[in-house]
Amino acid sequence: MACDSTRVTEDTRGRRLGGAGPCLYSPSAEDPAPCRRRDAMATPAGTPEQPLRVAVVGSGPSGFYAAGHLLKAEELDVSVDMFDRLPTPFGLVRAGVAPDHPKIKSVIRVYEKTAANGAFRFFGNVRIGEDIAHAELSRHYHAVIYAVGAQTDRQLGIPGEELPGSWAATELVAWYNGHPDFRELEFDLSCTTAVVVGNGNVAMDVARMLVLPRAELEATDTADYAIEALAQSAVEEVVILGRRGPAQAAFTNPELRELGELTDADVVVDPAELEVDQHSARMIEHEGELTARRNVEILREFAGRPMRGRPKRVELRFLRSPVAIHGDGRAQSIELVRNELHHGGDGSMRAQATGEHEILDAGLVFRSIGYRGVPIDGVPFDEWQGTVPNEEGRVVDPHDQHSVSGVFVVGWIKRGPSGVIGTNKRDAQETVTNLLEDLAEGRLPAPEEPDPAAIEALVAERQPDLVRYAGWELIDAAEQAAGEPLGRPRVKLTRVEEMVDVALGRERTGGRSAA
Ligand code: NAP
Repeated sequence: MACDSTRVTEDTRGRRLGGAGPCLYSPSAEDPAPCRRRDAMATPAGTPEQPLRVAVVGSGPSGFYAAGHLLKAEELDVSVDMFDRLPTPFGLVRAGVAPDHPKIKSVIRVYEKTAANGAFRFFGNVRIGEDIAHAELSRHYHAVIYAVGAQTDRQLGIPGEELPGSWAATELVAWYNGHPDFRELEFDLSCTTAVVVGNGNVAMDVARMLVLPRAELEATDTADYAIEALAQSAVEEVVILGRRGPAQAAFTNPELRELGELTDADVVVDPAELEVDQHSARMIEHEGELTARRNVEILREFAGRPMRGRPKRVELRFLRSPVAIHGDGRAQSIELVRNELHHGGDGSMRAQATGEHEILDAGLVFRSIGYRGVPIDGVPFDEWQGTVPNEEGRVVDPHDQHSVSGVFVVGWIKRGPSGVIGTNKRDAQETVTNLLEDLAEGRLPAPEEPDPAAIEALVAERQPDLVRYAGWELIDAAEQAAGEPLGRPRVKLTRVEEMVDVALGRERTGGRSAA
């Protein structure tokens, strides 16, 4: 794609995007010097007359922490506009955190304080790259921060992975959390054994959710349709597979411990699975590996437990990798190979396949091996890492390693899908510090359209069903009101149209809007 300062593109709905203005990135090999640098600022921004104007794309934890840090910047007037493709904010706190972990969701109170700041605006139900192009954002703001997370999953790359019954764990997570894009998925829960591949906290969440009793599901904000499906599920055995050993597991202690506290399921670990090699034993004795040491202790405690006669079981097995999913038209079994651990030159312990194979009957397979970022139109992307190339949050053009002025990243699209919610606070601080340094040193480009009303008008023209923060508060109130008589934190709205109707005060009749 050549660099064209008057580039106009059409989106999937045939609307014109882009228009006049510089394109910030060209991935073309013939065009190694993309026209990414706009004029440095003539007048310093950050004053009451000319506030620093920042767009944050994505309203999950990293986006909110970035907004919070910006709005707290000392002796600087900053205004933040946050965009989200959904009418609802909070990203994975709403659509990723397990519904039976309400305490983790209470972090929303912090984000609500940020949203209450008079210099903060929310533009929900707006897709950057479809409704508004990246180049257009750059025309209206001194800086754009992408906080879009990692919106897809990693694949195993084994035969049979595409069979019905083989899913990404992230699909189940988004489904039970009522994400509008995933609500129509149909999980056939009529089999007795489900396998979860991976040893991270998402694997723990999925295993737990698959065996929670109806009463416990009903006390949460799990989507209604998912409560019904999970409560009627025939799954009575969940097998969690780690490709490496117990000392290398990525899950954390509280999440592992919870598997031992399930009302309806016994946790099962064969003591033979817990024999650790010499290197791992030395590693877990090391002070710095407290989580690994505790994980092994908890697993040993599980292995020594008598079965408590619960109707379901969750079993942890280690040193096994899936090599194929078999089945006639749908997943019926998974073929595994046993692994041995080998000491990598870099100090890591690597799984290496032996020749020993086994077959496990399973009608459901959830790969829980990590999330992956997706490219943002007009912004560099590292296909290998699944992230936007950056230096401490400053987006970098891979052609010449220079930073792309005025474009920043935070969260999983910056560093990859790792860490807990709090990790994003430090991460966002780093990016905001660098953004403010660029401002101080005159490296931020001056927006051509700095008037806040201009972007508001453009967004409203492109997306008439724009949902502002007050609209989200109406959705929030409606969901909580629906939950209250049932003793539930909320009953989630799971269709964008329903959310928009509530946010815009439209009446619905018979499931359809009357407006
Ligand atoms: P994760 O923590 O990175 O775990 C991914 C797991 O998949 C690892 O055990 C990894 O094993 C395994 N894996 C990767 N590729 C594999 C392959 N080809 N075959 C078999 N196994 C493979 O990812 P996650 O569980 O998706 O979690 C993402 C982040 O969200 C993490 O930081 C997590 O802590 C966080 N999270 C936190 C909570 C919570 O706090 N309650 C809940 C959910 C998620 P190797 O180690 O061998 O690569």
